[in-house]
Amino acid sequence: MQKNENKNMFKASWTYDKAPESTDHVQIKKEYELYINGKFTKPVKGKYFDTINPSTNKKIASVAEATSEDVDIAVKAARKAFKGWSSLSGKERGKYIFRIARLIQERAREFAVIESLDGGKPIKESRDIDIPLAANHFFYYAGWADKLEYAFPNRKPEPLGVVGQIIPWNFPLLMAAWKLAPALATGNTVVLKPAETTPLTALKLAEIIHDSGIPKGVVNIITGAGETGASIVNHPDVDKIAFTGSTGVGKYISNAVAGTNKSVTLELGGKGANIIFEDAAIDQAVEGIVNAIFYNQGHVCCAGSRLFIQESVADVVIQKLKDRMETLIVGDPLDKNTDVGAINSKKQLQIIENYIKIGINEGGDIYQSSCNLPKSGNWCAPTLFLNVSQSHKIVQEEIFGPVLAVQTFRTISEVIEKANNTPYGLSAGVWTNNGAKIFHLTERLEAGVIWANTFNKFDAASPFGGYKESGYGREGGMQGLNPYVKFD
Ligand code: NAP
Ligand code: MG
Repeated sequence: MQKNENKNMFKASWTYDKAPESTDHVQIKKEYELYINGKFTKPVKGKYFDTINPSTNKKIASVAEATSEDVDIAVKAARKAFKGWSSLSGKERGKYIFRIARLIQERAREFAVIESLDGGKPIKESRDIDIPLAANHFFYYAGWADKLEYAFPNRKPEPLGVVGQIIPWNFPLLMAAWKLAPALATGNTVVLKPAETTPLTALKLAEIIHDSGIPKGVVNIITGAGETGASIVNHPDVDKIAFTGSTGVGKYISNAVAGTNKSVTLELGGKGANIIFEDAAIDQAVEGIVNAIFYNQGHVCCAGSRLFIQESVADVVIQKLKDRMETLIVGDPLDKNTDVGAINSKKQLQIIENYIKIGINEGGDIYQSSCNLPKSGNWCAPTLFLNVSQSHKIVQEEIFGPVLAVQTFRTISEVIEKANNTPYGLSAGVWTNNGAKIFHLTERLEAGVIWANTFNKFDAASPFGGYKESGYGREGGMQGLNPYVKFD
């Protein structure tokens, strides 16, 4: 394995004082129940599972495991609440959603600490990105609640009814916000299931949703495993499924709802191309590459996991990238200096390590930053592969970890063809000083989101979603209202 040869290189990990975020005043219960019909209730079968801190692999709390019986109770509660909620004026519904947004802001620190403890992401990301964006999402859609007739002029939008929402573990609170806010603004009632490895911020959200005084049954948050999700998908009285997760489970859901009246939106995986032209501002582009693939440990559906560098600048970009990787601080998610936190679960770490082995066996040249990884917990050093081509598995498949596949190109048409040569179509990035080149590429790249001279930037007002095997439907922006309404 090729490690960094330059032993005298500046190592940020030796030069900073540890600055862990305090966990004072962060309330974590020993046991969490299901939030159904405005109450925290025990699961019918009395089963619980452990949620784990991935940076230590120690248990944080016991969490209720909902079975199909609990799903049925939650769906009935949501059905009962639907008439009242959907007939409230948009202005009234908006008040509750604004209240939820403000309560998230008030308790932002607590949310950030819990997100980092339960999921492993660096506190500076949960504190500065995830939690503020989650609050923004509720603010943004609260604003739409009484303006739906302007979003859909002369079309009289109606809510769908009971919506089942299933979310992944990489942005737990933010994905809950992406799902709940537009569904509530449009007058639907909801049964939401967070991922098994990261249930705690969704349950904290249940507490503040309760505090917002929203009528009982409008929002039900139930925890559990894949089978819990499948029970929501298969429940006959659910009108719509909104899912974010893997392409594999997305395909299962499409099949399960085929031939029923349920509507579906799917936000699935990705293998984003990040393209660096020779006329780009190279230092900024290197920062962009790091942000595109190492942000949130690379557990990002829209990560820039395929890097394409124009041949004339490839050597300089790769050297600068390696140097920058050496300065990344990998470690305690609660440390304010940490850049790369813990891999979310043992299972995900095994998946990533397996891809790294495949990359080596297929002849790729691996480079990993020489950081010291903590002894316990799930960790992966920032990694890149050189000398790979389109046919390599690590170029084709989503790894969902801090592993970058690097290729070079000569011409624009060559890079467009390579970038589009993937079953996915979620995101891409273009780095160049030439505006015309940006527009040339954005027209031709098959991706739902394309960033120019930046990467992994999100805004509640801007729609997000994929093409091809990355799914269908949009979340965010005015377009994010569409999947939750119907017309006569
Ligand atoms: P996953 O295994 O598909 O799980 C997603 C959610 O579905 C979890 O809550 C999971 O529950 C549940 N689930 C599992 N099996 C199910 C079934 N048969 N029926 C219904 N629900 C089921 O995905 P993940 O590993 O959590 O997340 C990683 C994937 O999500 C990546 O592929 C990533 O690209 C994608 N993702 C996409 C976006 C986007 O917007 N496009 C955003 C984030 C992530 P358990 O946790 O209990 O298994
Ligand atoms: Mg956890």
